[in-house]
Amino acid sequence: MSYHDKYEAVIGLEVHAQLQTESKLFCGDSAAFGGSPNTHVSAITLGHPGTLPKTNKKAVELAIRIGLACNCEIERYNYFARKNYFYPDLPKGYQVSQHTAPICKGGHVAIHTAEGKRNVQLNRIHMEEDAGKSIHDIDDNNTCVDYNRAGVPLVEIVTEPDLKSADEAYQYITELRKLVRWIEVCDGNMEEGSLRCDANVSIRLKGETKLGTKVEVKNLNSIRNVKKAIEYEIERMINVVESGGVIVQQTRSFDAATDTTFAIRDKEEANDYRYFPEPDLPPFYLTDEFIEGIRQKLPALPEQLSLHYQQLGLGEYDAQQLCLEKETADYFNAVIQLTTNYKAAANWMNGPIRHYLHEHKLHIADFSLAPQRLAEMIQLVDEGKINFSAASSKLMPALLATGSAPALETATALNLLQVSDSSEITGWVDAVINKMPDKVAEYKKGKKGLIGLFVGEVKKISKGKADPKVVTGLLEEKLK
Ligand code: ADP
Ligand code: MG
Repeated sequence: MSYHDKYEAVIGLEVHAQLQTESKLFCGDSAAFGGSPNTHVSAITLGHPGTLPKTNKKAVELAIRIGLACNCEIERYNYFARKNYFYPDLPKGYQVSQHTAPICKGGHVAIHTAEGKRNVQLNRIHMEEDAGKSIHDIDDNNTCVDYNRAGVPLVEIVTEPDLKSADEAYQYITELRKLVRWIEVCDGNMEEGSLRCDANVSIRLKGETKLGTKVEVKNLNSIRNVKKAIEYEIERMINVVESGGVIVQQTRSFDAATDTTFAIRDKEEANDYRYFPEPDLPPFYLTDEFIEGIRQKLPALPEQLSLHYQQLGLGEYDAQQLCLEKETADYFNAVIQLTTNYKAAANWMNGPIRHYLHEHKLHIADFSLAPQRLAEMIQLVDEGKINFSAASSKLMPALLATGSAPALETATALNLLQVSDSSEITGWVDAVINKMPDKVAEYKKGKKGLIGLFVGEVKKISKGKADPKVVTGLLEEKLK
């Protein structure tokens, strides 16, 4: 038994998600990513004396939307507070935040692990404004600041210390990113910083109920890095304890070049933020009608939709594949309005269409095949007019190229339709029977498995155009 087995890890994640609004949380400045430095910056963003902030209603709606999607309780009475600290990227000298009184409480996010489905408990979701950006690598002697990001609306989604491994943390962020994209609250782009994660990690002896001392790892800008950082931290902490040391409460940073973490400050150096209610923003009260209106507009969530697809007869894996992104599910929903062969529709989506998109580096949102055309192809295959492989490898690309022509017309023009007219097939069948007298004799003596060989031969000489059902029937008839 390795000494690792004595310990268990406890992890809590804090995820900052940038809300998809046009403007900032407290003024009309653009909230778009990028832009020339310091161009999305008015006197309000800079907090000049005499300016007054005003709360962005859209941001409040989006915060409630994510709260409802995570089964949180929504706080009716809300206010903002000032979190005071001095830092060059914080033009006002304080950050406006709901840290002390979150708009969403409790709730959970479902993850799928090796042991099955499990709800990760949330502590809260609160709104706050983002800081600007310090840039250290433009000028050798100075740090530059870009305030475009200052004041952009964020929610911070905070879990309970409820995750047990780096893998669970990985699953959680994957699910959370899928969810915020699905409900169009955040674009989920970690490279651009729209989704940022801090990981809190501690260890304790198995069976212990008290939490151990935690460290907080910042600067995790990909899901992979979240996993790597947690793996490294757990290993490091176990080694500290095993060699007789004590874990100190620290803030650490992840170095993606080495997959390691290093200390940036100890707990004793923590700021006193002197929180107090923001005097320039009136508290706001949310009515039940307002919250219900937002609930009504929520789309079916991936979890619910996957269950629905399973009720339609799809396997769990197929159903989940269709629910990885909302645009995929939207496309599938459109197709199953036009065909009742749900299984075939799912096979097309998870098979040839997924391959096509991957090969052409396209997103399903840019896939130009009308759902109507796919429904037509499914029908043609079901009716035996074309085989699936010709439909997916030849007809689909042709339909994508022509744009709007119906599937039957295109298949006819390309000579892809199977022949089910028995006189033409009889010719092919006779040719095969004449070509293989020995096999025919064996078949007649009882080696019935050879039927597959004959069908295959007919398929070959007909260049795939003979309907295999008709061929099989004719062969059985003639070889009786
Ligand atoms: P802080 O005030 O240091 O930010 P919080 O209590 O707000 O701490 O918790 C921040 C995050 O850390 C939450 O996700 C929480 O679940 C997690 N957390 C708290 N204590 C521990 C611990 N001992 N081990 C692991 N995670 C923890
Ligand atoms: Mg914290």
